[in-house]
Amino acid sequence: MHSFVALLIGLTASLTGAVHMFLPSHATTTPALPSDTSGVPLRIPIFIYHTIATGTPTETKSQEVFSTEPVLLDQQLTYLDTHGYTTITMKEAADMLRRGTTSPVTKPVVLTFDDGWVTQYKNALPLLEAHHAKAVFYIFPNPIGKDARFMTWEQLATLRDSGMEIADHTLTHPLLSKQTPPMLHHEMYDSKTMLESKLGISVTDFASPFGYTSDAVVAELKADGYETGRTTDRGMVHAATSTYALSGYIVHKGMKDFEWALEYAK
Ligand SMILES: [Zn+2]
Repeated sequence: MHSFVALLIGLTASLTGAVHMFLPSHATTTPALPSDTSGVPLRIPIFIYHTIATGTPTETKSQEVFSTEPVLLDQQLTYLDTHGYTTITMKEAADMLRRGTTSPVTKPVVLTFDDGWVTQYKNALPLLEAHHAKAVFYIFPNPIGKDARFMTWEQLATLRDSGMEIADHTLTHPLLSKQTPPMLHHEMYDSKTMLESKLGISVTDFASPFGYTSDAVVAELKADGYETGRTTDRGMVHAATSTYALSGYIVHKGMKDFEWALEYAK
């Protein structure tokens, strides 16, 4: 379990992402967002989940903090249903920010699942489908199909076919502050092309391991053709000028935290 803990160390020590203006993208597949629609901030709550499993007496502190009980996820999805929320993908959120409006959706919310844990496939997907909800799965390809704690490529294809968005979470889940420029490119670009070729999809959204971001990470996102980058800051309001440092909200145990964040967090 040491690598599980290693993945999670520092997750809460996220850095505040600077607001970056858009520069011309090198990408040919995803055009840069036009700067003339950047003025309208939109409130789009983004929630972050990790493992979706029933707790056991042996779980570590990290597992406890970063694990959500399936029954709680079900309660949260029910709350979204009964309070008029619509789950959207990060591609849809990027489009809303580009347009400067959430219309025609009045209360959008993005549910994101990090790391590709197999418990997300086994325990979250059936609940998402039962609630007709969409979600975004940030995958780092290195353990896919090799480590039983993570999903297989076939399971990722099932997520894709269920209307879920597959997005990028680097190749090996390193702390990006420690990477040289060539390694940063390897971690952020080669993972994207691997997901795209293995799954036949377009990958445009990225979540940084441990929520770390920097000018170098943002420059790499732009060069690689990404449209968004998600951190683990807790803000709920985003604009087209901040799509490379979107804040997200780590879901803890209990409904109160979720409801408060959803309804009141700034
Ligand atoms: Zn992660």
